[in-house]
This record gives sequence, C-alpha cells and structure tokens, in this order.
Amino acid sequence: MSVSTTTNGSQHTRSGEKMMSIAYDYARESTLEVWLSKPKLLLIDGQHRASASGRTFKTLDPATGQVIATVAEGNEVDVDRAVAAARRAFEGPWRTMRAAERGKILYRLVELMKRHADEIAALESLDAGKPISGVLRQDLPAAIDTLSYYAGWADKISGEVVSTRDDALTYTIREPVGVVAAIVPWNFPLMIGMWKIAPALACGCTIVMKPAELTSLSALRLGELALEAGLPPGVLNIVTGPGRVVGDALVNHPDVDKVTFTGSPGVGRGILRGAASNFKRVSLELGGKSANVIFDDADIESASRAAASGIFFNAGQVCSAGSRVLAQEKVYDEVVERLTKRAKTIRMGDPADRATALGPVISERQMNSILDYVSIGQKEGALLTTGGTRIGDRGYFISPAVFAEVKHEMRISQEEIFGPVVSVIKFRDEAEALRLANGTAYSLAAGVWSSDIGRVQRFAKKANAGTVWINTYGFTDVRLPWGGARDSGLGREHGTAAIDNFTEPKAVWMNLNV
Ligand code: NAD
Repeated sequence: MSVSTTTNGSQHTRSGEKMMSIAYDYARESTLEVWLSKPKLLLIDGQHRASASGRTFKTLDPATGQVIATVAEGNEVDVDRAVAAARRAFEGPWRTMRAAERGKILYRLVELMKRHADEIAALESLDAGKPISGVLRQDLPAAIDTLSYYAGWADKISGEVVSTRDDALTYTIREPVGVVAAIVPWNFPLMIGMWKIAPALACGCTIVMKPAELTSLSALRLGELALEAGLPPGVLNIVTGPGRVVGDALVNHPDVDKVTFTGSPGVGRGILRGAASNFKRVSLELGGKSANVIFDDADIESASRAAASGIFFNAGQVCSAGSRVLAQEKVYDEVVERLTKRAKTIRMGDPADRATALGPVISERQMNSILDYVSIGQKEGALLTTGGTRIGDRGYFISPAVFAEVKHEMRISQEEIFGPVVSVIKFRDEAEALRLANGTAYSLAAGVWSSDIGRVQRFAKKANAGTVWINTYGFTDVRLPWGGARDSGLGREHGTAAIDNFTEPKAVWMNLNV
C-alpha cells in the first residue's frame, strides 16, 4: 500500500488489502519467512527455551495489524533462570576471559551483523513498522557502529596509578558491575538495545535483556548471531514478555547488579524504587519534549526542513523529537507554512517500500493516544493546519500533523505525544525563547537556529538539555554522551560514560614498607 498526502491536503489511500500483500511478499522473498514461521523462544544459557508457563503472545506488523510471529511469554521463573545463567557466565568464562578475546568476539558479531544486514533490517522494519530506508540508513549502521566502537574498548578499560603517600603504591582498577538487566523500548529496538549490550559486554558484564513486547524479534535474532560469533552461553540472555512481569522481576531481582533502561518516565520511576531493594546501579533514558528554536536571522528554509524531519522521522516516535518548534514572530508564519507543506508532501506508506519516508505508528494503542492528543490540541484552541487523522483502515497510519497558534501552557506543548505531531509556538526575543525552551518537565535535547554566533552559544550554555544542536537537528553519535535530567532520566549512555556505567572503580593500597 502507499498512502500519500498531496500539497492540496487531499489524501490518497490504496486498498488495505494491497498493503498487506506487499508486506508479506517482502518477507517471503527473504529467509525471514522461514525464521518467522517458527515460534520465537526465549534465549537462556545459550539455549532456545519455551517459557516456564508455556504461554506465548503474538507480535503484529504495525503496517497491517496482522500477526508476524508467535513469541514466548516469559515470567518470574524464566527471569530467575536467565539471571542464574548470567551469573554463572559472569563468574565463569566472560569476566575471566582475556579482554582482547572479548573484543574479538564482539568484532565477529559486527561481521555477522554486516553479513546479515538485509535480513536484520527487513526484520526490524517489519516488526516496528519502520521505513526500510531509515533502518538501512540509521538504525542498523548505528547499531553496528556502536558495537564496533565498544569492541575496540574491550581491552582499553584501565585504572590509574594515583599519587598519595611515599610509603604506598595506590592505584585503581575498573571491574565489571556484574549481571545487567537491559530493558529496551520499541521505537529503536535494535539500536537502543545495542547501546546497552555493546558497552556492557565490552566491560565484562553479562546481560539479561528484555525487549519491548511490541518488538522482540531483532533482539532474538541478534542473540542467535551473538552465539554464532562465539559469545559463551549465558553471557547474553533474552527474556521476552510483558514489562510489568519480566521487567518488574528483573528490576526487583536480588542477583541483578545494574539496570539500564530506556522508556517512559512513569516506568523509570518504578525502576528507581525497585532498584532500591539491593541498591542496584541504575541508568535511565526517558522521554523528551524538545524545543527546536528558530530565530528570524536563521536560514529559514534549512531550519524548517530540519524541523520537519526532527518531528516526522520515525513517525515522531523519537525521545529527542523536536516536537515543539519555537519560531520568532517575524518568521512564524513562514515556518508554519513550510512545515505544513512538508507534512502534506511527505511520502507515507508501506515500510518495506524504499521510497517510503513515513510509516505507521507502532500500535493501535499508540495511534489512539496520538489521535486523542490531536483532539486535545483542537479543544485547547490550537490551529491544526494539516494532518492528525488516521489513514486507511488497516495498520496504524496517521497523517503528519502541524499545530499553529500553540500556547506554551497547552497540554500538546507540555506532554510527550510520541507521534508525528508538531506544535509551533511564537516567541518575541531571546529571553522568551529560552524560557519557553526550558519550560517543560524534560531536559533531553534542544535545537537552535540563528546566524548570530553569540546568541547560539548563549542558548547552548543555558538550555536545560543533555544535547544541543546548533543550526542542525537530531544527530547522535556513540562517541558523544547521550541522556538527560529530570523527566528525561538519570545518567548518560555512549562514549566513556557507558564504560563508567558498567564498571566499578576499586582503590588498591599497597604498603611499600614490608
Ligand atoms: P515503556 O516505559 O512503556 O517501556 C519501555 C520498556 O520497559 C519495555 O520493554 C517495557 O516492556 C518495559 N516495562 C514496562 N513496564 C515495566 C515495569 N513495570 N518494570 C520494568 N519494565 C517495564 O516505554 P515505551 O512505550 O516502550 O517507549 C516510549 C518511551 O521511551 C517514551 O517516553 C520515549 O521518550 C522513551 N524513550 C527514550 C529514549 C532516550 O534515549 N531518552 C529513547 C527511546 C525512547
């Protein structure tokens, strides 16, 4: 199926029937069909296993609402088994292996991911409803880059000799924290999963990973490839199932040493409480309501183009989506017009079609939540210039929406919608721009567009954000820290921050007078 919107706002939808057949033909052409036809089991201690309860759940194609595969539904018993396997592997082969050897195994996984790139990309696209072009351009290369980066770190993690007293040799060593629970969301299952797996493994930790129940498949395939690469059994375990069962059991498990979580602030709060039971280390990457600020001396065409991709990429299901565009009064109308035009022309359709730029949202529930926000915005008095309606009657497609005349206090300006909906807000001057940009519960990311170098630097300094983009928007790189504060989370991922996350420093004192 192809769904597209035109510049005059009319929408063309071919039949839902056709959409389904394209998605399934795509799977049939690859080896995926065979893989998907078998029940997807848990991966514990290097073995595929049915869940302890024998229960399963269905995973759906967001583009059609049709079942893609049947997945094992884990529970507390499976979590116990997986944590025990991870503990054995930690005390046994993984921690004690030469660090360089650990790195070699991770590099072998890099090679396997490259060899299976088309298959993994197709799986991710199918399971998460992501346009295949985006998966091939962004998700997969970023996952591979993350793994190669941390494979290189494996034998470079070291402590230091520190000068203290003349009669002592004092130094630090960095030790792996132990068994890590990695809890992953559905918006970038492979990439965000890798942000956790790669540094944890490089540091010598072992893992129990819980993918989001809506998108379990790429993690399971990755687990298989990791075994093929030579990862010892039990080093990477994957327990699929509901968050409130599997996730909760991991968070409260007495033998888990660290939880690394990406997801919503509500679940994040519960994780902090659960982790208190045995003082687990915790890092949380949560939501955002990021401002993309356009001053009147900016290149308005580039800024508007980037603002459109900043919100419509991945159907707006991005924690750092530029969901609030702040435009200075002189250029406000032009920015609204350009965003509206872009929203009307963006190519929406079958994620398997390489020409598709905008796919469905992840689920019926997410679609309904986004559509509710569109109604809320209208009731609050904002002006919907385009989009915000369901497209077709199969799958979960929403036409990209632009709200003008948005007031800062409105719910659509304050709450994370996590869909292709942008609020455009007017500001007068630099002080007001900064006040509005910083005026939500979140502190994840912000963008600023201006040709005044002093102004952009002042903004970068004062923005409440873990990342600031100047005259650009949306880039991430594993070499730079990533994360936020307040409702956006706790701690940082990426770069050396992740090495700190998965290791504990130990101070050693040696008396030199014996
Ligand atoms: P979510 O919080 O509902 O789920 C995230 C993960 O937590 C899933 O695997 C889920 O099964 C699990 N989970 C659910 N309940 C749990 C519980 N009680 N205990 C333990 N685990 C539990 O979030 P989501 O809907 O999957 O993802 C969307 C959210 O994630 C958005 O708020 C988004 O902003 C955020 N996000 C943040 C980043 C970032 O880097 N900051 C990246 C992507 C997504």
